[in-house]
This record gives sequence, structure tokens and C-alpha cells, in this order.
Amino acid sequence: MSLHALADHPFAAPRSLAEACALLAERAARGERTVLLAGGTDWIVEQHLAPAPAADAPLPLVADVSRLAELRGVAERGDAIRIGAGTTFLELRRDPLVTARLPLLAAAARDVGAIQIQARGTLAGNLATGSPAADGVAALGALDAVLELASVRGTRRVPIAAFYTGYRRNVLLPDELIAAVEVVPPAPGSPFAWRKVGTRQAQAISKVALAAVAELDRSEGPGARLTRLGLGMASVAPTVVFLPEVRALGLGRPLASIDDEALAAATLAGISPIDDVRSTASYRRHVAVALVRRFFESLRAPS
Ligand SMILES: Cc1cc2nc3c(=O)[nH]c(=O)nc-3n(C[C@H](O)[C@H](O)[C@H](O)COP(=O)(O)OP(=O)(O)OC[C@H]3O[C@@H](n4cnc5c(N)ncnc54)[C@H](O)[C@@H]3O)c2cc1C
Repeated sequence: MSLHALADHPFAAPRSLAEACALLAERAARGERTVLLAGGTDWIVEQHLAPAPAADAPLPLVADVSRLAELRGVAERGDAIRIGAGTTFLELRRDPLVTARLPLLAAAARDVGAIQIQARGTLAGNLATGSPAADGVAALGALDAVLELASVRGTRRVPIAAFYTGYRRNVLLPDELIAAVEVVPPAPGSPFAWRKVGTRQAQAISKVALAAVAELDRSEGPGARLTRLGLGMASVAPTVVFLPEVRALGLGRPLASIDDEALAAATLAGISPIDDVRSTASYRRHVAVALVRRFFESLRAPS
């Protein structure tokens, strides 16, 4: 579709979260489609590549949510940090609370596209598009984020591991939007890893990416145990995966007792990579196993 055709879409700019939810509810009740526009770095690019719609097909209403104050900002809430879903990657990488308490998320934000994309692209857009290569989803998955979904019916909280139902599919209802994500930060100084393996440093979609975070009880010396373990891996399955088999293998066990063979088997159990323009399935399997193994090696190294 030509980018000029975007101007044919009906357009709205709700002024508050309540107004946006009311708009979504009215349209959903009439069976009418609405596209929420945040940074536009996914949706507008997709429209450019999409075939032209049939002449008589009603175009969805584009509702600009990029200026909704309720979707912005980072704040502490009890033990957790709440991040407005409309927060951009540039805001995330510059936010003092995120850089100090969620360095994994700040590192992932620094690797999303280049600065122009970071200045527009939001967590909500990254989560809602749900690309298998979504860096924000991998980092939020490793941090066991909980999504706050808002509608006129109120707010429901969905753990990120329960959000995706398939390739670019999720449990968001037509009258809902993603309002925020909440993350319980790991203990200060906890080990983490952000590894994005791609063709080049910037503007490249990953061949494989790993986000990982751990908390360790080192009170038993060499018998250090994992008391928290979170992983998110991108570009190895129809959705970003959270490697539950690796978590089950690692949690509560002495690190020294987790051998590389078991780690490799647990990693491979959680992925189903394909050959595509960026890489091959077999290379992805190799890199996935190596990234997880290296993270565990870094945990075993004396602190
Ligand atoms: C050149 C380029 C490089 C890129 N590099 C990367 C990269 O390295 N890593 C990466 O992960 N991504 C990358 N992307 C993809 C994109 O930038 C991100 O996914 C970004 O987070 C999308 O956010 P957005 O605000 O621009 O989404 P938009 O395009 O505005 O929206 C995307 C989807 O989310 C929906 N949506 C928006 N807000 C909400 C909400 N509050 N609730 C529910 N649904 C909502 C929209 O309706 C739409 O369906 C790149 C894109 C480009 C063009």
C-alpha cells in the first residue's frame, strides 16, 4: 500500500486513557476495527508492505495514543517498578530507575534499531506486534513482567508468559489496550546477560537474542544456588520464548550440579527455529545453546 493511502484512514486522538478505552469499547461493540498508533515504527512500515485493501473494505480507525500521559512514565510501586506501556526505548535507556534497577531492560532498549527507532518505538508496540524477534519482549520475559491491560471494564493483569497464543497472536481483546508493565527488579547487582547475535550492531533483526537474569544464594560457597532465574530468547520460535525447561533445571539447584549436556537439552526443548533470510535453524540451535551455556558459565565464575 502506498504511504499516501494512510491519509484515507479515519483518525482519532483520544485525550485520556478513559477516552481511548471508551472509543475502543464503542467500536468493538459495533464490530469495527481500531488500530492504536504509538510510535508507528511497526504499523506504518507494515502498511507500506501490505497489499492494497479491497476498494469497498472499511479501513480501521487509527487512534493516536502516543500522547496519553497515563501510558508514560516509570515509577516505583511497592516492590515493583511500573512502566507506562507508551514509554519509548530512548526514554527507557535514559531513565535513572530503569538503568539502576533494570539494567537488562536498559541494555535491550539500547539495541533496538537505531536512535531514531528508539525515539519513537514503544514497549506497547513491541509487545502488541509480538514479533518473534522482539527485543523488548525477550527482556521483559526474562524479568517475568506482568502486563496491565485496560478497558472500560477495568484493568486485568496478565503475566507475559500467558500473553502470547501463537505467531503475532495474543490474549488482548478488541476493546483492550496495554496500559503498563510491572516488573519486580532483581536484587541490586544481580547477574544478567543481554546478547543479540545478528549481522551487524545496529538496525539488524537478530538471528538469536538472549535476555537472562539470575539471583544467587552464595552463602554455601561453591554450592551457590539459583534463587531466581529468568530467560527470554528471540528469533528461535513463532513467539519469543521464556525457556521454562532451563528455568526448571536451574532453579534451586547447586550451580555446580548443572552440566552442559542437560543445559543444552533443556534449551533445545524450548525452541523451534526455522531457516529464513537471516539464518538457518541449525545455526540458531547452535547459538541458542552457546548463549545459555555462557550465561551459566558466567554465574559459576567466582564473584
Ligand atoms: C528500522 C527498524 C528497526 C527496528 N529494529 C528493531 C529491533 O532492533 N528490535 C525490536 O524489537 N524491534 C525493532 N523494530 C520494530 C519496532 O520498532 C518495535 O517493535 C517497536 O517497539 C514498535 O513500537 P511502536 O510504538 O512504534 O508501535 P506501533 O507501530 O505504533 O504499533 C505496533 C502495534 O502495536 C499496537 N499498539 C500500540 N500501542 C498499543 C497499546 N498501548 N496497546 C495495545 N496495542 C498497541 C498497534 O495498534 C500496532 O498493532 C524496528 C523497526 C524498524 C522500522
